[in-house]
Amino acid sequence: MSDSYLNFANSSFGAKLTNLIGLPKPLLLARYRADQPVINGSVLLGGSAGSELLQPLARAFAAMAVQSVAHHALPQWVAIANQQGLMTGRWGVGDQPGAKVKALVFDASGLTDSSQSDALYQFFHDAARSLLTCGRVVVIGRPPESCSAPRQATVQRALEGLTRSLGKELKRAITSNLVYCANGAEDQLESTMRFLLSPRSTYVSGQVIRVGKPTADAAVINWAQPLAGKKVLVTGASRGIGAAIAEVMAREGAQLICLDVPQAQTGLDEIAARLGGRALAMDISSTEAPALLTAAALADGGWDVLVHNAGITRDKTIANMKEALWQSVVNVNLSTQERINEALVEAGALKSGGRIVCVSSISGIAGNLGQTNYAFSKAGVIGMVQSMAPVLAERGITINAVAPGFIETQMTAAIPFTIREAGRRMNSMGQGGLPVDVAETIAWLASPASAGLNGNVVRVCGQSLLGA
Ligand code: NAD
Repeated sequence: MSDSYLNFANSSFGAKLTNLIGLPKPLLLARYRADQPVINGSVLLGGSAGSELLQPLARAFAAMAVQSVAHHALPQWVAIANQQGLMTGRWGVGDQPGAKVKALVFDASGLTDSSQSDALYQFFHDAARSLLTCGRVVVIGRPPESCSAPRQATVQRALEGLTRSLGKELKRAITSNLVYCANGAEDQLESTMRFLLSPRSTYVSGQVIRVGKPTADAAVINWAQPLAGKKVLVTGASRGIGAAIAEVMAREGAQLICLDVPQAQTGLDEIAARLGGRALAMDISSTEAPALLTAAALADGGWDVLVHNAGITRDKTIANMKEALWQSVVNVNLSTQERINEALVEAGALKSGGRIVCVSSISGIAGNLGQTNYAFSKAGVIGMVQSMAPVLAERGITINAVAPGFIETQMTAAIPFTIREAGRRMNSMGQGGLPVDVAETIAWLASPASAGLNGNVVRVCGQSLLGA
């Protein structure tokens, strides 16, 4: 489904007309291209006294070949960056802002009291106008729940309000996200920084991401194809978001097992053949599915990644809903995932270092009229991710979820026009996301480099107002 207003507003005639009559103009979002660097422009670094993450950030930036400049309140960055062989310099002279930058990164880990928040004000006040279109803001702090002093926990928690407001205020397709990096997890930042600074995260904004200690020993990462040689199951792969997930996983080097219902066999065979994967026609809600999948995984020598994407909607207000509609949605979207995870993990068919990525929905966060069954199932997916994360960590496996907002698919094309337009526009990007935006987020969570990400629920919703 394409967004004709977005296309019109970005045509030469449409741009003139929307300017003339003052209509909002959603911008074309930058998306991943193989011929582009991780980030297309330099990063402006800010921080406060006692910033603790500058060394790991410099190492990550060196690995990404990022160009950086230092805000005047963070002069120590220049020496730290130089040690890592990074191109760097100071940004701005006196009161004059420096050149335009593609990202603002603020190390807030040193903040221990709200009275120190001036450092945040100064940095974003100075730099907000210097951020390019489709730019990035990343604030990095310490998880409030791990802070020993209440005042430190308080100022760290306050960062959420700042980053979310920046996402709404900066506009121009700029994303703003907060990363809480646990003590001892500093070397796990790279995978998340690569994702958040790059165009892959184009529809992820207003999110809080927790990076913890790795669940398994560090692997050597091939950043060009992090999933090379990995066996990846994608459910619901014949179309929509599932097909995009399969495409991105294949691009990242995965050996795919593409699963969908037997009725979708034609589309399934086509995508599996195109991506060099295997088609598996199966109804995941059947009682035999967990055992069949376990046997298939064991026959492959174990799988590395499970992506639970298959899902259905059967919308009705609860007073009008037949029991079968409730049961089928809860079964396909939630109970089935629980059964499959348990069977594969019990049998050792999901390898150590494995990844489970589930697809929830903002409906599971905000609730939705006519979707009690769907929202129950998708909120349950979040519950499953959060409760299973510590259990699976003991086996070196991570589990995370994405929660898409309005994504342009056949599912959303079926929504009545006025509700569809509201869903599309009520977010900081003024447009719906594409299936590839969900897929890129899943690929980041599924990467061997993301061993520090466990129990996260990341919305891919362009900072939708729903459930915000
Ligand atoms: P879609 O209907 O286009 O694709 C879903 C796929 O899952 C289909 O190919 C379908 O055949 C398959 N499937 C359904 N039941 C199955 C079963 N029992 N066994 C095997 N395969 C089964 O939907 P989509 O828009 O691509 O959505 C994909 C996921 O994203 C779903 O979990 C959905 O709830 C979620 N989601 C979508 C949006 C959106 O805006 N499109 C928003 C939030 C969440």
